[in-house]
Amino acid sequence: MRVGVLKGNGIGPEITSAVLQVLEATGLPLEWVHIPIADEAVERYGHPLPRQVVDALREVKVALKAPLIVNKGEGRLSCVQEDGSEVTYPSLNNAIRRELKLFVNPRPLRGIPGISGRYENLDVVVMREVTEDVYVGWEHRIGDVAAQAIKLTTREAAVRVARYSFDYARRNGRRKVSCLHKANVLNYTDGLFLRCCAEVAREYPDIEFDDYMIDAACYLIIKEPQRFDVVVTPNQYGDILSDLGAGLVGSLGLAPGANIGEVASVFEASHGAAPDIAGKGIANPVALLLSGALLLQHAGHGREAASVVRATRAVLGEGKVLTRDLGGTANTLALAGAIADRVRASDPD
Ligand code: NAD
Repeated sequence: MRVGVLKGNGIGPEITSAVLQVLEATGLPLEWVHIPIADEAVERYGHPLPRQVVDALREVKVALKAPLIVNKGEGRLSCVQEDGSEVTYPSLNNAIRRELKLFVNPRPLRGIPGISGRYENLDVVVMREVTEDVYVGWEHRIGDVAAQAIKLTTREAAVRVARYSFDYARRNGRRKVSCLHKANVLNYTDGLFLRCCAEVAREYPDIEFDDYMIDAACYLIIKEPQRFDVVVTPNQYGDILSDLGAGLVGSLGLAPGANIGEVASVFEASHGAAPDIAGKGIANPVALLLSGALLLQHAGHGREAASVVRATRAVLGEGKVLTRDLGGTANTLALAGAIADRVRASDPD
């Protein structure tokens, strides 16, 4: 199977090589297709996200992407379209999602016995809509006294992410989908998102549906996490809630994610490029590794995906080989190596 690999920057390259080693331990015939991005793509093609890279991602269909450093409040990225026109995006990550039409960012938050303390039973999947909301990047300055951003919600995108969430719940034996929103203040945008979710819910009488204000949901996920199962939410709330959830599980270094599209899908951790620890070989590779397991599952290799997840949870649960974010002293390669050994030793059932 051909898998695109974008090694990113910051901690990206070090966690990527550790993760590829574990995925290879599954014994699957994996062919890594290196796809340049950011600085590397600039060197080769003169642009951080040239058409060749978008086409390569479409061609491989599944890719594992490490995080990228995105500068704060600087410039926008302009991409040339097939018809020669140009579209600008607020960041490279945003551009990848939108150029490939990746519409939902599922981020599973699953507690780990021995690691997650009182959240070891947490089991929530955040379904973040990923094409719209304020992250559409339609901002402008009004002189130097103000700036404005537009929050976009369309029926098409809201229905699409809602349907994906209910289908996911059905496929994975989940009991409930909750819509998180702020429709009491954002009557039209979040109001439309909520209405679309409630409409789609009627097509799935076997799955329970409810909704919460996003602020109340942040409180409740800490106080009563068992209330939540699958949550569907606009782009920005999903982004914030998934980092909050990673904190409950025990570390950003444990929180995986996927970006699903109709043509291609890109799998990446919830965390960023962690420049504060980059180059030291101490980053936790697990979030990217579990994203790799989501990739294997998506590509039809459920058995191997399950073996990676089982091995990861077992090694972490034993608490002997832990990276610093989890209170241990092991480095990236030691943790990945321990998991790879466990994958190799696991029953091929
Ligand atoms: P971050 O997620 O990179 O780091 C936040 C904190 O978590 C840091 O203390 C970091 O050391 C720690 N951390 C993150 N991942 C870790 C891991 N695997 N192991 C151990 N510790 C880990 O967030 P940030 O500092 O706000 O962002 C850094 C850069 O990453 C910024 O340029 C940001 O724009 C970018 N970013 C990229 C993506 C992406 O590529 N998808 C996502 C988020 C942020």
